[in-house]
Amino acid sequence: MPRSLKVGGVTPFTATDYPGQVAAVVFVQGCPWQCGYCHNTHLQPRLQKSPLQWSRVLGLLEKRVGLVDAVVFSGGEPTLDPALGNAMRDVRRLGFKIGLHTGGAYPHRLVELLPEIDWVALDVKAPFEQYEKITGVSDSGQQTLASAEAIIASGIDHEFRTTVHPALLSEDDVIELARSLSGMGVKNYALQVFRAQGCKTKELKATAIAGYPSADLVETLRQMFPGFVHRPA
Ligand code: SF4
Repeated sequence: MPRSLKVGGVTPFTATDYPGQVAAVVFVQGCPWQCGYCHNTHLQPRLQKSPLQWSRVLGLLEKRVGLVDAVVFSGGEPTLDPALGNAMRDVRRLGFKIGLHTGGAYPHRLVELLPEIDWVALDVKAPFEQYEKITGVSDSGQQTLASAEAIIASGIDHEFRTTVHPALLSEDDVIELARSLSGMGVKNYALQVFRAQGCKTKELKATAIAGYPSADLVETLRQMFPGFVHRPA
């Protein structure tokens, strides 16, 4: 019997997870990284058993036909799951568009999945050589860099996005990262300010973030990317 996707949760309706589309979101269980600002820490462990059976999730999605346009696979890190491609094809057969939220931890798998996907959001957490301070994993930036290059080369509709917190990234760090993304050909970039909801790291929650990012930084980014979005806390 083929392996099934391990699903940690489902959001049946959202207007904010796939630009311009009403979507359902499937949260895949498991992530190889440990970002301090993670607001889905319950999705980090790769469990032996799937909290939700894929057949039941598919049944729920069948009932959303005509009500939502797309299904977004999020996480955790969805590309960690070898069953993701089959799950995407199951969803495609129901007539939905396919979205993906990923941190880019598995670039080789992402390359295989890109033909199945209509839109991808890539979390770019820091300048690539500074990744370990966010993810806790050495060389993780090289994985995201390879994923970013694959997305750009594919021409797929995309959003690159960075979650920012003043204790983790200075404004100079953000500018350095933005320059490298712009140089790679990224057109759509979102700056997401840290939100405390769901975060388990006391130090991040205790740090005041009023006035961050500055209006100057936001304006600089707006001029760098034709599709720039600022998402305040
Ligand atoms: S990559 Fe995403 S899901 Fe994984 S620990 Fe970081 S924020 Fe959480």
